[in-house]
Amino acid sequence: MRKTSEKQKKQHDVIIAGGGLAGLVMAARLGSAGLDVAVVERIAQANMTSTAFDGRSTAIAYGSARILDACGVWNKIKDTTCPIDDIRVADQRSALTLDFESKDVFLCDASAPNGATGPAKDVFLCDASAPNGATGPAKDVFLCDASAPNGATGPAGGDKAFGYIVENTVFRTALFERLAELNNVTLACPVAIQAIHYEDDAITLALDDNSTLRARLLIAADGKKSFCREHAGIQARHWSYNETALVVTIKHTMPHHNLALEYFYPGGPFAVLPMSDNRSSIVWTEKPDTAAALHTMPEDEFIGLLKERGCENLGGISLATPRQQYPLRFMLADSLHAPRLALIGEAAHSMHPVAGQGFNLTVRDIGVLGDLIEMRFKTDGDIGADELLQRYDAGRQLDHFTFMTATDVLVKLFSNNVLPLRLIRRFGLALIEKIPPAKKFFSRMAMGLITSGK
Ligand SMILES: Cc1cc2nc3c(=O)[nH]c(=O)nc-3n(C[C@H](O)[C@H](O)[C@H](O)COP(=O)(O)OP(=O)(O)OC[C@H]3O[C@@H](n4cnc5c(N)ncnc54)[C@H](O)[C@@H]3O)c2cc1C
Repeated sequence: MRKTSEKQKKQHDVIIAGGGLAGLVMAARLGSAGLDVAVVERIAQANMTSTAFDGRSTAIAYGSARILDACGVWNKIKDTTCPIDDIRVADQRSALTLDFESKDVFLCDASAPNGATGPAKDVFLCDASAPNGATGPAKDVFLCDASAPNGATGPAGGDKAFGYIVENTVFRTALFERLAELNNVTLACPVAIQAIHYEDDAITLALDDNSTLRARLLIAADGKKSFCREHAGIQARHWSYNETALVVTIKHTMPHHNLALEYFYPGGPFAVLPMSDNRSSIVWTEKPDTAAALHTMPEDEFIGLLKERGCENLGGISLATPRQQYPLRFMLADSLHAPRLALIGEAAHSMHPVAGQGFNLTVRDIGVLGDLIEMRFKTDGDIGADELLQRYDAGRQLDHFTFMTATDVLVKLFSNNVLPLRLIRRFGLALIEKIPPAKKFFSRMAMGLITSGK
């Protein structure tokens, strides 16, 4: 990775605006494919890898782990992640819970050409790229389980988790490490974008250190208030949820058994996500006033409330990080492209963290855009051509719309205490629990193996 001080005069293939998780993964994807990439980030690198900057953890779905693997990032974080083997969902503390167990979905297909057998034949087909050379019709989607009769394994490790919890500080550090291995990636940091100039065949950025960067394509990964999106005149639908997520990591004396819990309360969902070393990440959503009070209340009082809410089985609890607050908004851009510009990540969509899908949606953006750019780059074509950007846009709109709408409905259905809705959701959870195909469908969604963009 080249540093800011080695500013290049030459044109880059791609400039990525924003070095958050989205921008860094995009850079790793394109850098790994051999493109000349510049990332522009206004915050100093050293400040971005501290817990004080971002104390959150991210639930990385199984499908996203595969894409990170292809970028050379997964192997740097996998040993620090904690697998989510089971998920339990309930309306408040109702006894009617919806329980997902990953062992129910990770089995091979009896009809697959390699002869693997297993009861979940409509779910898990084999992957052509699996080490045992197994093939199957859904080769780009499904991996076999290490414990399957044919012993096939896949790039994400062959284990059977819905997803993996990774600390954002660990994730960012690994991403910077990966970019440092790539001589074709330049990190301009800390500098901010001040102006953007469009030409027919290129785009030029003026930075606040008086330097300029030029490329055939600009990828906006500069967050919810994206300067690039606004500069291009792309409108967005957005509203506040009037909810704040309070995030904290706890250490506990009893094991979590790799179980992720999500309880829906009238103020918002309360999630307990398993982490390595007997720790869990709490994402407690409440109305802003309540969240502010929780943020400052004495630690022992706060821990008492954690136990009441859903941490009663974790034994003795202590806080491992400071409590942090994140106001929650819905935002969906009307378009994902403009001339020589593509939007990814929170510059394109920002959703409620209730289902832990925001970054996973971003990884799928990166997967699709990365593939289109790489193919065009290899044939010496124009990687910023309008028709390529239109294909990216068309390929991602449905996935965005579906996940954003489903998440929004989920938040609105569960964040209230209206009796008829309470009955509907309790009945709904109980019904899904009793219908195996429905459970399997939601399991696969959680794993990032079903997207409406395919
Ligand atoms: C409480 C919470 C929990 C979450 N949990 C999950 C989860 O479990 N799973 C999941 O999939 N998703 C989750 N998400 C979503 C996830 O955190 C985000 O999608 C993720 O952080 C990606 O953000 P980003 O890189 O697109 O944007 P950002 O993190 O906002 O990064 C944008 C970057 O651009 C830089 N920038 C902005 N303007 C400029 C400029 N003019 N010049 C230079 N640089 C600029 C900023 O400094 C910033 O670093 C959660 C979100 C919240 C709030």
